[in-house]
Amino acid sequence: MKYPIYLDYNATTPIDKAVLEAMMPYLTEHFGNAASRFHAYGWQAAEAVSMARQQVATLLGASEKEIIFTSGATESVNLAIKGIFEALNHKGKHIITVATEHKAVLDTCLHLEKLGAEVTYLKVDTEGNIALEALEDSIRPDTLLISVMAANNEIGTTYPLRALAQLAHKHGVLLHTDATQAIGKLPVDVVADDIDLLSLSAHKIYGPKGVGALYVRKKLNLVAQQDGGKHERGLRSGTLNVAGVVGLGKACELCQQMLVEESARVAALRDQLEAGILAALPQAQVNGSRINRLTNITNISFGQMDGEQLLMSLNGIAVSNGSACNSATTEPSYVLKALGLDDTQAYSSVRFSLGRYTTAEDITLAIEHVVQVVKRMRL
Ligand SMILES: *Cc1c(COP(=O)(O)O)cnc(C)c1O
Repeated sequence: MKYPIYLDYNATTPIDKAVLEAMMPYLTEHFGNAASRFHAYGWQAAEAVSMARQQVATLLGASEKEIIFTSGATESVNLAIKGIFEALNHKGKHIITVATEHKAVLDTCLHLEKLGAEVTYLKVDTEGNIALEALEDSIRPDTLLISVMAANNEIGTTYPLRALAQLAHKHGVLLHTDATQAIGKLPVDVVADDIDLLSLSAHKIYGPKGVGALYVRKKLNLVAQQDGGKHERGLRSGTLNVAGVVGLGKACELCQQMLVEESARVAALRDQLEAGILAALPQAQVNGSRINRLTNITNISFGQMDGEQLLMSLNGIAVSNGSACNSATTEPSYVLKALGLDDTQAYSSVRFSLGRYTTAEDITLAIEHVVQVVKRMRL
């Protein structure tokens, strides 16, 4: 079987070779438990974890002590939102987020609603943007936390973190951001942007699956959501996935080195893909903002046609409609619906997301393939 051209980097990325190389020793001879304090096996693992923590912190402009390793962004988001709610529930019960957030955020909020939280889900405009005035209006005296993603996984829309933090802090509210898609594509600096909590995942940035991190600002009080041996300053018990953590660290270091050049290269390919499709298919339309957008993504609606058949026919490329994380449902994307698309438009939308290993040839072939398939379906 010939594999399709991979244009689904927002679902997951392949491991960078340098990341795998950094991990290998910790899957083999350096197998120690980073919490073993009395022998060299443990020290070696602990040293590797400490270096990874430094690499993650450096990418974010944070300090080492502010990084908690987790099993991925879903866990980080759960820990951030539930942890703050539990720590501050005596002060309030209101949380503000956005209707187009990832399910990790939305379902966590839904869970907290059952425990007495009140949650405002802000609407977005047709481009996926939120209005800062609407956000400010929704802040109440009992608001604890605002959770807004740095960039959307389906349409790529980015959000102004610094302005959001300013607004939140003006009212004594904390800001959490799910930065899973922004990391490695946009510069994110928790000090400059004044962010209180930030979630990220290794497998979206050329690291391994099943590992991530939560940045927790110094002195911020959070209640652990998993109890046990008090690893990670008591915030996340459980033996560390040392190789995974090392991989995350290396992936962050590579992102830092490559970000500027890589995002420019990928943006040029994305623009070429988008222009090629739009030029050949006048009914095609880009979903979401084309201004405040990640460099690696275009989400295109192909108009009135059978979306399922479209995705099935596009078998020369690996793409998705909606988010891979919701692939259990056959519902149209709730993100696209929130932009005002009808069901048919949402079903006939395709997310193309590019990355480190996308080539100019991939893009040429992808354009040809998409145009041919859509034209054939329109006959
Ligand atoms: C992929 C993704 C997640 C989930 O990350 P996992 O590490 O797979 O749990 C959360 N938020 C966003 C925006 C994502 O793209």
